[in-house]
Amino acid sequence: MSNGRILVSPEDSLSLRVISLFLSIDGEVTARGQGCPAFFIRLAGCNLRCWQDLGGCDTTYSFGAGEEMRVSTLLERVTASGCPRVTLTGGEPLLQQGPALTALLRGLAQRHISVSVETNGSQPPDFPGRELVNCLVYDYKCPSSGCESAMLPFEHMYAGLAPSDYIKFVIADESDYRCARAKALQARELARQRPGPRLAFSSFLPALPAGLTPPRLVARLLEDGLFEVQFNLQIHKFIWPDAETDI
Ligand code: SF4
Repeated sequence: MSNGRILVSPEDSLSLRVISLFLSIDGEVTARGQGCPAFFIRLAGCNLRCWQDLGGCDTTYSFGAGEEMRVSTLLERVTASGCPRVTLTGGEPLLQQGPALTALLRGLAQRHISVSVETNGSQPPDFPGRELVNCLVYDYKCPSSGCESAMLPFEHMYAGLAPSDYIKFVIADESDYRCARAKALQARELARQRPGPRLAFSSFLPALPAGLTPPRLVARLLEDGLFEVQFNLQIHKFIWPDAETDI
């Protein structure tokens, strides 16, 4: 209470649209390492519709409206989990950037929770609260996704990221590989002026019969001397191959 008015904290007054909250492991690259336990906050909504020709993306359930949840409730749920890491994902989590998302990131930082944000490559990296994110993982959509035209210019993406961040590429076929390799070579040039994010390539799974399966993709990386690129296996797809929902 102040001057007769009840003060409501941003954490109590602001909310985000949430699809699901769950404890799992990071299935893909992050600065803290693949496979680390993390509390996932999956926000609602996505501006893209990837891989329509290949059966659609594996998180179409995130396209819904979700449930409005107060930031204070989200912070309580994270704290109750006991896990010191949060992965904020979607859908596209940065569609909800603004005071509520900033309040969540600030609250997590105050609780010494490490935060990794997974974003689809269409949103600029200078969003409010960016400085509170420990690792920003951009998913650059290659041609087979049908969404490459929605990506930020690669140099813009690169310029907004730190060496603790990632740009990852999910590669289904040869055209995807050529796209990702061109970006890796561009990053090599940009790195001469400023160290930038790490790059990671993974195979689209389940791999297409004539596509770049994990062994073929690793072979191409080595043949082409892309030694700055990390191979990324989506381990959650091996642990839970039949999962249709969050685990
Ligand atoms: S950006 Fe992610 S959630 Fe959105 S359609 Fe593409 S794969 Fe699915």
